Amino acid sequence: MKIVKTIEEVRRQTAEWRKQGLTVGLVPTMGYLHEGHASLIDRSVKENDRTVVSDFVNPMQFGPHEDLQSYPRDIEHDAALVQEHGADLIFHPEPEEMYNEGFSSFVDMTVLTNELCGLSRPVHFRGVCTVVTKLFNIVQPDNAYFGKKDAQQLAVIKHMAEDLNMNLNIIGCPIIRESDGLAKSSRNTYLTPEERKAALVLSKSIFLGEQMVKEGETDCSEIIAAMQKMIADEPLARIDYVKIVDCKTMQQIPVLNRPALCAIAVYIGKTRLIDNFFTEDIDKEAE
Ligand code: AMP
Repeated sequence: MKIVKTIEEVRRQTAEWRKQGLTVGLVPTMGYLHEGHASLIDRSVKENDRTVVSDFVNPMQFGPHEDLQSYPRDIEHDAALVQEHGADLIFHPEPEEMYNEGFSSFVDMTVLTNELCGLSRPVHFRGVCTVVTKLFNIVQPDNAYFGKKDAQQLAVIKHMAEDLNMNLNIIGCPIIRESDGLAKSSRNTYLTPEERKAALVLSKSIFLGEQMVKEGETDCSEIIAAMQKMIADEPLARIDYVKIVDCKTMQQIPVLNRPALCAIAVYIGKTRLIDNFFTEDIDKEAE
């Protein structure tokens, strides 16, 4: 397993693999890897001859008052995890390698990003689309793996790949949770022990919403109200949003009459966490 810091080295390696007729999977990450990332790597290793994991805290997807500086980083830990899970290469560039002086081209999207996280993080998806496009161009993978934990991101990337005729498959992977239910996230490390307990309200409200859907509730406002009430009862929690949207367009819907995504963003203290559930299995159409 190699750690590579330059675009040229990645290109050289992946070109060699392609010459040998090998397939390549890409798992884009911001590092500080946990079992959520590992599940993406496992899937890629299973489905491709070679797997590249990118490990890059992308400055472009952070807003001016967000946590770019404090975002956790530990490349040695990441390298050990990647090796253990059988991937072949980590691409770990410096920001200057990805964004040289004079960088001025962006990939932006006019749909899907005007809801959910796009509202509270206005520059986020432009940064994500731009860096993911660059990674696709650098690695030229056959398949790229993204977590459903970031459900809007997954929808945006799928849409972008289709719009721009990108020649690869975008594959969504299930949310991996801690044993008590909290969705695994690099940002969980920001939580104090007291906040960690309070953060459970995210998954609890997700499970509540999911249960209501299972029991036949179709009125979105009823589901949202029940989830909001549960979150509001936790003193350390502050709701950014609790919404139900069409899982393709990301626009809010009043009634569950099509495949939908219920997504939440909640501040626990200063840490903003997200979670979600899909009302139907979207993989049937995605794969
Ligand atoms: P990040 O490093 O947080 O940008 O995440 C990199 C990739 O891992 C994204 O596609 C995320 O959706 C995915 N991911 C992060 N956390 C989880 C999780 N708990 N379960 C599944 N996928 C995850």
